[in-house]
Amino acid sequence: MPIRYMAGEYNRASGTREAFAGLSLALEREGYPAIVVRDGDREPEDQLEIWYQRMTLTPGTRRVYGTARWQGKTWYRIHPDKVGVPLTSNHEKRRSSDLAAPYNNRRTAAHKRAQQLAPRFGITWEGANFNEDWHWTFWGPLGKISAPTTSGAGTVTPPTPKPTPIPEPEDLPLEDLMAFKSVAIGYRPKEDVDKLESVALDWEDGARLDLHNTEEKYTKSFSEGVTEGGLKILTKGHFDYVLAQFAEHQKTLRERELALARASAGS
Ligand SMILES: [Zn+2]
Repeated sequence: MPIRYMAGEYNRASGTREAFAGLSLALEREGYPAIVVRDGDREPEDQLEIWYQRMTLTPGTRRVYGTARWQGKTWYRIHPDKVGVPLTSNHEKRRSSDLAAPYNNRRTAAHKRAQQLAPRFGITWEGANFNEDWHWTFWGPLGKISAPTTSGAGTVTPPTPKPTPIPEPEDLPLEDLMAFKSVAIGYRPKEDVDKLESVALDWEDGARLDLHNTEEKYTKSFSEGVTEGGLKILTKGHFDYVLAQFAEHQKTLRERELALARASAGS
């Protein structure tokens, strides 16, 4: 039996999907059970939604269960269950899968053998670092990101690209891009393919998140969810220029942080 996904679960990145399928097959060849994925990709917008349900900047009189830092601010958890800081989980990066038994228990022979075979497929038992026996992560190239299937099938057919006229990018000046606390910029590597290279930039805390080869529609909704300014499509030249300026900006932020740290250490 090939690798299976529980209902509603999927790995959209072809690299991740193929690696887990390969590992499952290798295990089966040695007489161990095929892998069942219990929890695969998490969509960044879902993670954000959970974040906003459980965390707030203004807890008021509500009970606070814990705090976390995000985007340079302290957030208060007003819900008993924890939630990962957005965009930091490897499930959101489409690299991790939580596996069902017996690959969810380090004491089983199957789990031990999987630990040995996994690196051949670029996978490690990442959960070893945070006491989650079921959490495995693929570290190689993500490959193609396809649309999720509702059935949770392991094989995913990529959508057929529709020939729609592509508008010319409008290069916003750097100052306009910096007017937002955070913004995503992208460019089209190929005119005839609906895939973007893009980066979400946070001018406030210097964080940057790269998205490679992702559909424009997906990039757009993702960018609107995580940045103030949303997605701005630029020419490749201007894109490179803005990124270079962002690197300078990050340097300035770091220097400022260091100076602050030094000042407070000296006082
Ligand atoms: Zn996990």
